Amino acid sequence: MSTLRLRGVTRHYGPVAALAGVDLTVPGGSLTAVLGPSGCGKTTLLRCVAGFERIDAGEITVDGRVFAGPAVHTPPQRRHIVIVPQEGALFPHLSVRDNVAYGLSRADRRRGRVEEVLRLVGLAGYGARMPHQMSGGQQQRVAVARALAPRPSLVLLDEPFSALDAGLRAEVRHDVRAALRADGATGILVTHDQGEALSSADRIAVMREGVIVQDDSPTGVYHRPADAWVAAFVGDAIVLPVPAGPGLGHGGDTATVRTALGPVTVADLPAGHGPLTVLVRPEQVKITTAPAPRAVIATVTGDDFHGHDALVTLKLPDGTHVTARVPAPTGPMTTGTRVGVHVEGVARAWPDRHGAG
Ligand code: ADP
Ligand code: MG
Repeated sequence: MSTLRLRGVTRHYGPVAALAGVDLTVPGGSLTAVLGPSGCGKTTLLRCVAGFERIDAGEITVDGRVFAGPAVHTPPQRRHIVIVPQEGALFPHLSVRDNVAYGLSRADRRRGRVEEVLRLVGLAGYGARMPHQMSGGQQQRVAVARALAPRPSLVLLDEPFSALDAGLRAEVRHDVRAALRADGATGILVTHDQGEALSSADRIAVMREGVIVQDDSPTGVYHRPADAWVAAFVGDAIVLPVPAGPGLGHGGDTATVRTALGPVTVADLPAGHGPLTVLVRPEQVKITTAPAPRAVIATVTGDDFHGHDALVTLKLPDGTHVTARVPAPTGPMTTGTRVGVHVEGVARAWPDRHGAG
């Protein structure tokens, strides 16, 4: 179980800072998702960790051993780190067994390591097949089995499931997660898919423009996002502007502010405040048909029924539209219905950088 540390890592391509000072710790035996939009530097990060790219500044260590730093660049073959790329990773002319055995010592082959890792990824008995006789999901499992076979200290997965369709992606992800755990491997899963990161990782490092903006548990990034950008990237978010003011009340660590959705309790806010951006999740918006004291009167403008929940769009008195997530609805809501809405639970707020303050 190897712990990976990056401190102030930078990597430029000409004028482009692909990595602009990355700080990240990946605990031994964990799976950390690096989540960020396309072009933010995720692949560059993996390539620097594996040693295929040199870094300009900073330091990369595994269990305290410096692999990259000022005047140090350990070549990839001496780092014991593997990358599983997006697709096309297998040798088409080699059987599944030979693909997995490639690069293994003869002793490991004799000890049955190939069969062992194929079993870990749910492909026991598939060794004799050729890659073209396997589905896309099975081929990705083989690629993961091949990566795990030599017992690397770190497995770097670069959006390995993005070519698979949604249902299959969840299944392969689950099996690969279990295989990493069974093998005690430390992993980084790069993805631009927030659902994938939230459901499979122990930690999530949110990346934007070459830096890690938040490194936290999945619940941490969802419920306590570092800023409004992280909040909107990691889930659905309703952004409510709030003008400067004294607020509606203050108690303990929370304060209440006036928004288009009525009074909203926010965390970590001083009693008087400048213009704010308040962020509410759709599941925090409650709809009542009976009169409720805190409720704002809204009009239903749409209902997207999903069975387990529904996304109801509402027009507020100030003309803005918001979406509420309603669990287990008994039936659709009729467009034009007038309802009461209020916000439950604690919301997050940040000083509005575009406001007057
Ligand atoms: P991601 O994997 O998050 O999509 P990348 O790490 O591939 O992002 O790229 C980060 C930035 O670095 C992008 O602006 C990209 O255009 C640039 N970049 C990546 N590789 C190279 C390269 N070999 N030469 C020049 N620019 C590159
Ligand atoms: Mg990439």
